[in-house]
Amino acid sequence: MGATVAYESVSSDADIVAWSREYCRQVRREWGVDVRFDLVEWEVSSRAKRRAAAVKRPKLPDATVGEPYDWERVDGADGRPLPCTLSLTREAFDSFDRAEWEATLRHELIHVEQYQRDGTTDHGAAFRARAAALDTEVHCPAFAEAKHVLTCESCGDVVARRYRDCKLVRERERYRSDCCGASLAVD
Ligand SMILES: [Zn+2]
Ligand SMILES: [Zn+2]
Repeated sequence: MGATVAYESVSSDADIVAWSREYCRQVRREWGVDVRFDLVEWEVSSRAKRRAAAVKRPKLPDATVGEPYDWERVDGADGRPLPCTLSLTREAFDSFDRAEWEATLRHELIHVEQYQRDGTTDHGAAFRARAAALDTEVHCPAFAEAKHVLTCESCGDVVARRYRDCKLVRERERYRSDCCGASLAVD
């Protein structure tokens, strides 16, 4: 197993996946979530609007939450659940604190657990019971889109996201980017 990335030093998309995957394995051990991680793929999206994360999965005919799905019926599945993808939103990771991100991952793990067992997933009564047991929200976690994104005028990196008007936005000519010591652009 690779070295664990410390939460504070997560920066690249690969770090977000590595940290989140490790956290999810810990949830499986400590909270008893029934998920096969060998059938889960991971991606980081920077395009998703407002959804912090999502499980992308094939739509299967006749699948119902609460009724174990007969994976033997699916061509090429060899009796195993078809892979699904846990898609993590970059901007949500950046704007959430650690506890919010962990709760987001526990929410998505319930979707994966339901999907791998029943072939589909929703936010119904079974989900609500699991969400209570796993101390997470029933609604898919959403995040506010930043009102202002401040970037470095020299290299274009994102320096900060702000959700309301604030001193950094109003008086940005007084600030310099850490990366290049350049002025800040806002959009
Ligand atoms: Zn959800
Ligand atoms: Zn820069």
